[in-house]
Amino acid sequence: MGDREIETVKNEDTPETPPLLAVAAVERRFGPGAAALAGVDIALGAGEILTLLGPSGSGKTTLLKVIAGFEAPDKGRVTLNGRDITALSPAKRNIGMVFQHYALFPHMSAAENIAFPLAMRGADRQSIREKVSSALALVGLSGYGERLPRQLSGGQQQRVALARAIVFDPALLLLDEPFGALDRKLRAQMQAEVKSLQRRLGITTLFVTHDQEEALALSDRIAVMNEGRIAQMGTAEDLYRRPASRFVAEFVGEANLFRGRAGVIGGPAHARTVEVKLESGGEMLASLPPGDRSVHYGADLALVLRPERPHRLDAGGTAENRVTGTVAEAVYLGETIRYRVALERGGEILLRWPAERERLAPGTRVDLGWSAADLTAVVWT
Ligand code: ATP
Repeated sequence: MGDREIETVKNEDTPETPPLLAVAAVERRFGPGAAALAGVDIALGAGEILTLLGPSGSGKTTLLKVIAGFEAPDKGRVTLNGRDITALSPAKRNIGMVFQHYALFPHMSAAENIAFPLAMRGADRQSIREKVSSALALVGLSGYGERLPRQLSGGQQQRVALARAIVFDPALLLLDEPFGALDRKLRAQMQAEVKSLQRRLGITTLFVTHDQEEALALSDRIAVMNEGRIAQMGTAEDLYRRPASRFVAEFVGEANLFRGRAGVIGGPAHARTVEVKLESGGEMLASLPPGDRSVHYGADLALVLRPERPHRLDAGGTAENRVTGTVAEAVYLGETIRYRVALERGGEILLRWPAERERLAPGTRVDLGWSAADLTAVVWT
């Protein structure tokens, strides 16, 4: 029993496994303007796939280049497997990369392209042959080894690039908008393939995109970037249901935004609510994100309401929040219908309801209601 006790204590004292990749306080400035990276922290566990999602110019590619070693940070540190690699040359980092624009050597066959990183590392002919052949099979291109890049389709070229990036068993895989040049259908197919490949190989992956659907389709967690910083990191559901800022609310999914001033804050610690006096008149009751410390009495707030949350109120129906309006537009989108409702007190609200629900014709007057839990309050910045 005594032994067991000691073991338990030991286990509790064992520190968590260190992340496979850690980016700490990284800054990079190119000129006198705003920094491309203004202090970025990211940690990736072994086998995880994380998507960096952000608008053009938010710093995604710069961050990837810093991790890969093509760009030196002004400040901060990058560690891989616990080793500081900030000053290491790209070739010594053991990182595989795929970019949007095919960087295959045009005069080399697919097999020679894939063999290249192995040859650089001094692998012998026999093992090169075996590894190239299994990498081609992994990306579904067995039999295409002798083709030149120009004899392959765009999707096939990106598969070769992917095979070349993983053939030397890198510790980390970086993908920078690798399917940006492909059509929608092929893109969806490649996303599924990368996800399945990533799972099968268990390779830690950082994927860059500015396309939120791609981010949702691919990853365990998403880091939203804005102006050189990580605006929020979490699961797709965290970002959608509990956006930490107006930027994230608007960048991930559709959102209705109301602006107002914080009044009384109440409710239990795990589900605090705030009464909000709206700029447009009237009041709403909203919930505060768990652990939020930024909202105080009198704060300028953005209230975020996802378009599927409001429901239609019957005559006399009650809800914590309610508005009255007239349907201005109904757009059929397949599974859902998007309504634009002009509100009686000014402004409008966007709804997205399942198509099988009761249809509302333009001109219909509706009462809409939603709960405080459906409405997230964040500071208006
Ligand atoms: P995109 O989605 O358009 O590729 P991004 O999020 O990858 O954008 P970055 O390419 O990292 O953004 O650029 C971040 C900022 O740094 C931008 O303002 C860009 O103009 C600037 N920048 C990037 N590289 C350089 C460079 N070599 N010299 C000067 N400015 C640069």
